[in-house]
Amino acid sequence: MSLSKINTILEGVCERSAPNLGDLVFLLSLNEDEQVPLFDFADKIRKNFVGDGVLLRGIVEFSNFCRNTCSYCGLNVNNKKLTRYRLSTEEVLESVKIISECGIKTVVLQSGEEDVYPAVWLGELIKEIKLKFDIAVTLSVGERLEKDYALWRKSGADRYLLKIETSNKALYESLHPGMSFNNRLGCLDRLKGLGYQTGCGNIIGLKGQDLRHLAEDIIFFKKHDFEMIGIGPFIPHQETGLRGELKGDPKLALKVLALTRIITKNTHLPATTALGSQEKDFRADALKSGANVLMPNFTPLKYKALYEIYPGKKCITEDGSSCLGCLEANILPKGRYLDFSRGDSLKYKERITTNV
Ligand code: SAH
Repeated sequence: MSLSKINTILEGVCERSAPNLGDLVFLLSLNEDEQVPLFDFADKIRKNFVGDGVLLRGIVEFSNFCRNTCSYCGLNVNNKKLTRYRLSTEEVLESVKIISECGIKTVVLQSGEEDVYPAVWLGELIKEIKLKFDIAVTLSVGERLEKDYALWRKSGADRYLLKIETSNKALYESLHPGMSFNNRLGCLDRLKGLGYQTGCGNIIGLKGQDLRHLAEDIIFFKKHDFEMIGIGPFIPHQETGLRGELKGDPKLALKVLALTRIITKNTHLPATTALGSQEKDFRADALKSGANVLMPNFTPLKYKALYEIYPGKKCITEDGSSCLGCLEANILPKGRYLDFSRGDSLKYKERITTNV
């Protein structure tokens, strides 16, 4: 296929409000030489809609306890080899202090899906963070009851990240024994209803997933108008049901990322850690293919290796504050800069203004 023909298809996909599934499958199947115009197009849309700044989110993985059996994730409850940990309030506050001293204005509090700690504990922690620091709080702690989401929102949480992982119900349920796709969708709706800036995302290269599923994921992202979307390749973990499966192709993840940028325009799209944890660090490529966010890890060093959702995770041997220099030197493409603003969702602002 000629490059000009590919560009014509890209323009059609960009302009249409409801993307065509066949076009997306076609673009996802472009080979190495053909995919250059896709990445360049996404980079142009990124520049026009979210600019050259690369927003920073400091992540604190505060607990690796999990009650679930997600068949790709090393934190799954059946992994008895993993030493479990939960940070104390003081340890979380210390990590947030370091994030804040680095000038970063968003903390992402992430954990396995556990319901051992009371919702009130996390609520009080959010309140203390908001009292002590000028920082946006993003939660990523999985499926909970609406009353917990409401409590945390009232305590000051601004954003919530809950990836759909795959938007195909049958595939979702085959990979998440005992979990319900409809409940996950319901959680996303409830989070939006409570006024959280809501993030979603998927995993690329799951067992049983094909290009059509990925195209449907992108259409799902567009339909739900999420404020953030995290896209990362699958990395097999020995202590999971998917041990021995092939790893996801980072280049396919880049294509999904690029199309998500072209179609969803002003969404915040991270260059994910899973893209960084490959034979080479693909986060630099991601930033040139539509991404505009980086998420340095500020989990205390002694726990970092224990948050092992997959093996070979990037940046677990140094502390978060040394990350910034490294990101700037090794990951930032020419013409881009680290943006130390809060980086609230551009969609959310749009919605608030149109509602007044
Ligand atoms: N308990 C929270 C956070 C889960 S960990 C929740 O349910 O939302 C954060 C993300 O890591 C997951 O959403 C998933 O997309 C990703 N992940 C987990 N295992 C992975 C693997 N083996 N390969 C790639 N990504 C993985």
